[in-house]
Amino acid sequence: MELWFTENHTPNVRFSIKVNRQLYSGESEFQRIDIFQSEEFGRFLTLDGYMMLTEKDEFIYHEMITHVPMCAFPGAKDILIIGGGDGGAVRELAQYDSIRQIDLVEIDEEVVKACREYLPSTAGKLDDPRVHIHYEDGLKFVRHAHDAYDIIIVDSTDPFGPGEGLFTKEFYGNCFKALREDGIMVNQHESPFYPEDGYAMQRAHKRIAESFPICRVYQAHIPTYPSGHWLFGFASKKRGPVEGVDFTRWKALGIRTRYYNTQLHTGAFALPNYVEEMLKDVEP
Ligand code: SAM
Repeated sequence: MELWFTENHTPNVRFSIKVNRQLYSGESEFQRIDIFQSEEFGRFLTLDGYMMLTEKDEFIYHEMITHVPMCAFPGAKDILIIGGGDGGAVRELAQYDSIRQIDLVEIDEEVVKACREYLPSTAGKLDDPRVHIHYEDGLKFVRHAHDAYDIIIVDSTDPFGPGEGLFTKEFYGNCFKALREDGIMVNQHESPFYPEDGYAMQRAHKRIAESFPICRVYQAHIPTYPSGHWLFGFASKKRGPVEGVDFTRWKALGIRTRYYNTQLHTGAFALPNYVEEMLKDVEP
């Protein structure tokens, strides 16, 4: 008997991966957590039936959500990650000696436990002494943070279920306050391609643009996310994402990456015309 994982990308489009076996299944207070083993993508994590990461393509997402802001803010010291309990963003940040503290605010302790056990290549740096894990709702955590972080990385689930609050104007406004005067916030920004995802992307962009003076979008190719075309938001108080960035300084750090490089950093902010139009439609 063949076992397949299937996710509906729209009511008319499905994405399936043949599964060798199921490694873990659990129901936490917040969501259903599953980890599967597959031939094509290695191990993969799903929450409530939605793909979070696969061993084969997670490097693209995690490198793009971390190295873009780290290159734009050389020497960043204090980092806040909201979500990200799989540890992939932490693994990338752990390469930077300049970082003093990483606060990881993950609502669901069970995600961290399952990833530590079954996805060690992603979760392996969660024990770095600079990492402090807070099992809390990110929406509530940022209400009490002021002028405390250089970079905030919003590595959340989609805008429904426990992640819903992380796409609100209140949350982005509080992230603005939690950042230092030259701070940067990046977030996973959904996909522009299918109408429902595109609408979520526009809504997030509108709300971020209402809170931050600099608000840009960049892209990456992530094969296991709906349509494969994924966007990230770059919002900041002062720093531009490309203009004035010291790429030579980042290269001199010798950070190891498989997807990210400084030419790609610049190119990722060049968006297709239809995406530019979708963004302009909602900018204030
Ligand atoms: N890269 C992934 C994606 O977009 O598919 C996200 C992966 S990461 C596993 C997302 C994490 O955000 C989950 O572990 C989830 O528990 C956490 N999360 C969801 N809502 C949250 C909230 N309100 N506060 C903190 N963490 C939250």
